[in-house]
Amino acid sequence: MQPVLASIITIGDELLIGQTIDTNSAWMAQELNKVGIAVHRRLAIGDVWKDIWESLNEESRLSKIILITGGLGPTADDITKPLLCQYFGGKLVVNEAALVNVTSIFERLNRPLLERNLKQAEVPDVCTVIQNRRGTAPGMMFEKDGVIFVSMPGVPNEMKGMMTADVLPLLAGRFNLNPIVHRTLVTAGIGESFLAERIKEFEDSLPSNIKLAYLPNYGMVKLRLSATGNDNKTIAELEALFDMLKQQVADVMVIDEDISLQEAVGRLLSSHGKSMGTAESCTGGYIAHLLTGVSGASNYFKGSIVSYSNDIKQHLLDVSAQTLTTVGAVSEDTVIQMVKGALHQLKTDYIVATSGIMGPRGGSSEKPVGTVWIAVGNKNRIRTHHFHFRFDRQRNMDMTAQNALNMLRKFIIEMEQ
Ligand code: AMP
Ligand code: MG
Repeated sequence: MQPVLASIITIGDELLIGQTIDTNSAWMAQELNKVGIAVHRRLAIGDVWKDIWESLNEESRLSKIILITGGLGPTADDITKPLLCQYFGGKLVVNEAALVNVTSIFERLNRPLLERNLKQAEVPDVCTVIQNRRGTAPGMMFEKDGVIFVSMPGVPNEMKGMMTADVLPLLAGRFNLNPIVHRTLVTAGIGESFLAERIKEFEDSLPSNIKLAYLPNYGMVKLRLSATGNDNKTIAELEALFDMLKQQVADVMVIDEDISLQEAVGRLLSSHGKSMGTAESCTGGYIAHLLTGVSGASNYFKGSIVSYSNDIKQHLLDVSAQTLTTVGAVSEDTVIQMVKGALHQLKTDYIVATSGIMGPRGGSSEKPVGTVWIAVGNKNRIRTHHFHFRFDRQRNMDMTAQNALNMLRKFIIEMEQ
């Protein structure tokens, strides 16, 4: 069975000048794929009447589903709604439910309602209205010659609310879909070409309905098996192949799910009832930020000492002045003392500490940009590792954080077994 095809059109001048990054179409593509709708075109266009009009003509020749975001705001630059109204030959009428929604939002905010806000409750009389539970602009669905068009606000949070609650269920009911099912595992410490050599036979022997993808990022490679169809036979086949793949990469596998390292660390700590904290120099609290981005982090994450200056390393973490003047802040001795100091101050079971040179300035011939020391430890043992990253500041920081989390993860597994 051929997959149903969709086009995504994102509208807004800000997308074309790079002021706003189009995160909407990436998210929508993922969600559509999960239910078996294949996105074969993504198009970003400005708030320009002719461009939007032509894109509707063109995409509807190619796709059964056209998802549109943006251009629904109350200001004059947003023209998607009047355009759709004309395109589908309707006229604008007030939608009672949308009006109640807009009025109640402004009442809650205790703000006067302007004429232009009231206009947000108007919709073409030829559409099915999709209520917006997170904002003022309603979504709209149209149908023409068997093609479904859905227009949603550009605000990512509002679009996601509509997609999840209404649009995806609606499309699943409307089309005969063949969902794509994925199984993903994460490996670390092996490059993708080596991995590919190792699992070549496995890859060559895969049946045509199951595909393997390599997704490298930050020193890790995700391996994803995707099957078309969610019937029992296909799922069983996928599971069996996934088990086989797991066995072949067992020594380099981090986790057999598509989750982040911070989530993996969180699960480990929760399952053992242990706590952690961070002592961060070069990552400046970034590791703490990643950890606290996971809901439920308060169960295991206690806090962090961002010791960016030597002064703070000395006074809050008790790193010795002698160490700092002799071997320097970016050294094994320093990160060991940072772990000890933070264990004492934060009173956690585990600590991870970082110190390094992120660049572009601050390097020397002895310690070039990208030199990083990481230590993980508990009250019995401390383990250190020296890295040489070779990227720009942001990527060096990401590499440091990911490696620190992975070191911590391995250390906890070892200590808790
Ligand atoms: P609009 O519906 O055009 O008024 O857009 C409202 C807000 O959503 C603006 O702040 C846009 O920058 C943002 N936005 C619009 N399109 C996208 C998109 N494709 N991805 C992420 N944000 C977007
Ligand atoms: Mg706009």
